[in-house]
Amino acid sequence: MKSWKDRSAKVQVKESELPSSIPAQTGLTFNIWYSKWSQGFAGNTRFVSPFALQPQPHSGRTRGDNDDQLFFCLFFAKGMCCLGSKCQYLHHIPNEDDVDKLALRTEVLDCFGREKFADYREDMGGVGSFRRKNRTLYIGGIDGALNGKHLKSTQIESRIRFVFSRLGAIDRIRYVEDKNCAFVKFKYQANAEFGKEAMSNQTLLLPSDKEWEDRREGTGLLVKWANEDPDPAAQKRLQEEQKLESLNMMVRLINNNTITSAGAGVDNNTKKIPDRKETPEVSINSTKKRLLPIDNGLQSDIFIENLKKLKKNENIEHNPSNSFSRKVGGPLVDYPSSDEE
Ligand SMILES: [Zn+2]
Repeated sequence: MKSWKDRSAKVQVKESELPSSIPAQTGLTFNIWYSKWSQGFAGNTRFVSPFALQPQPHSGRTRGDNDDQLFFCLFFAKGMCCLGSKCQYLHHIPNEDDVDKLALRTEVLDCFGREKFADYREDMGGVGSFRRKNRTLYIGGIDGALNGKHLKSTQIESRIRFVFSRLGAIDRIRYVEDKNCAFVKFKYQANAEFGKEAMSNQTLLLPSDKEWEDRREGTGLLVKWANEDPDPAAQKRLQEEQKLESLNMMVRLINNNTITSAGAGVDNNTKKIPDRKETPEVSINSTKKRLLPIDNGLQSDIFIENLKKLKKNENIEHNPSNSFSRKVGGPLVDYPSSDEE
């Protein structure tokens, strides 16, 4: 399979195929077929998007790759960029290199360069929050995306797996039969951000289905940021991940304040931050690493601050009264309440 790097990005739609004018925004989703806004103020109807991203054939190099662009093309994700290789944004699925670059530059913008907000929107739609890392999408509207076609739960899950795994490395996917919804957890948040835009209002029908021609009559998938997966096993994993992340943060912090020097003489095994006065003579023959006594006061302040955060985190995790809280940072175990099915 040829890599997207070896070819120019394709034009996904001709400019003439796009709606010529978009009226003033009165809803959250613009329905291109009917030229009106839906979802929100002007009504609650959703429509299947007439455009869809096909990751393999559509991906390719753009002007953005030459300009070291960080961000991805939102229209590409939705399958409707008419610029192709002339686009100043990236036209491929976010990969590990992209994830690293995005993480280095900013935490407050999503992979499309849109500002994140402190809180999720009430309906868990939108860009997402910068306060909480979230790699999990809630997938609803499955009936509408299948135009009511009856499938076994394993078949539904495998369709969801098929369409979402094209959009980035998957951590896990879980279909909840009695709620007819699914949770898709990506390995990286950037792919969740990308996947949310790419799969919103998309059909789950396949060209081989006899219902395919009527897919536009369906309502398409409803993709939101997930509150945490209510599965107890998933909750436990989340707690472990959070602890690990806090620990990693502390290790990074220590490392940032540590200059490893081949000439240093303090035994690192004691993990002691040496006092400035007691710093021994540097011996060029020693290969042991040591913590440089740069600024003990500042270092321990940050340390204590982080320990406090860690403790606070644990309290939130173990306090059942917070379990159903919608507060950012607490474990959220309920399903989104505003599913419009
Ligand atoms: Zn584009």
